[in-house]
Amino acid sequence: MATLQHQQKPAAPMTTTSGGARAMDLYEKLEKVGEGTYGKVYKAREKATGRIVALKKTRLPEDDEGVPPTAMREVSLLRMLSQDPHVVRLLDLKQGQNKEGQTILYLVFEYMDTDLKKFIRGYRANHEKIPAHIVKILMYQLCKGVSFIHGHGVLHRDLKPHNLLMDRKTTALKIADLGLSRSFTVPLKKYTHEILTLWYRAPEVLLGATHYSTPVDIWSVGCIFAELITNTALFPGDSEVQQLMHIFKLLGTPNEEVWPGVSKLPNWHVYPQWKPSKLETLVPGLDADGYDLLEKMLQYEPMKRISAKKALEHPYFNGVNKEQY
Ligand code: AMP
Repeated sequence: MATLQHQQKPAAPMTTTSGGARAMDLYEKLEKVGEGTYGKVYKAREKATGRIVALKKTRLPEDDEGVPPTAMREVSLLRMLSQDPHVVRLLDLKQGQNKEGQTILYLVFEYMDTDLKKFIRGYRANHEKIPAHIVKILMYQLCKGVSFIHGHGVLHRDLKPHNLLMDRKTTALKIADLGLSRSFTVPLKKYTHEILTLWYRAPEVLLGATHYSTPVDIWSVGCIFAELITNTALFPGDSEVQQLMHIFKLLGTPNEEVWPGVSKLPNWHVYPQWKPSKLETLVPGLDADGYDLLEKMLQYEPMKRISAKKALEHPYFNGVNKEQY
């Protein structure tokens, strides 16, 4: 399994409009609402309908004439995936050119009024905990969305609170910033030179594994789960080595016994030997079922990590009105 690789026929491509100006005549940019990995995101109004949308400007790989077919296929797949209620909906796609003649893709998404990073920050600023039932429904929706994309053979690879969009009123959660990583080459840094966060990155990726799969997203989901409980990131590292050290200090330095094959991974070194701490100490304030689920998400050995589909059946979610999501 790889990023946005197709295991089934993607939806038909959307019509694109050449000429940035013409395409952009359809939308009135209101304000910049964010910066993603691939470019700026604007709140905009669709002139014909008045509908508020999010406009994501994405520069395609340079030296390419027009939109490369791989990118088009990925966008089609993205649109297909965005039919899921827990994936942000791609409404339209417009093609244009910037002043330098580079091809620009405008991805038009449904507008969401906040994201999980801001949501958590709001509680942290007030020194308040997110109510347990809210954490539960957010986690349920996250697992549902992840289960859906994994079910279609797609990895997200960069799940973090920043790209989990939310509707404040309904606490609906939707996964954003999905893929495009094949033909849009995953950058090490954002185009703004802001360094990409490593906090949610799975240990096998940090250790240089080249064959990784869906468990990398589950690790991120586990980190997000812990953050929803404590309002602070569980493993806030600022370099790859530091990130690994953060994980090892809290969960214990892995060895061949807990993770067969770990010492064969490319970036493996002899690390200081830390003993694991209890999740109850690291992430205070969760119930017994919650700890059980969190532990299953933060397993060192990728194959031992719970799948998103299995997570949905975990007793932690027993109280959730599953019909509603
Ligand atoms: P992304 O590139 O998807 O990570 O987006 C970067 C930031 O732009 C997000 O954290 C949001 O603050 C904002 N954003 C992205 N997509 C949307 C959307 N559909 N609605 C509202 N804000 C968005």
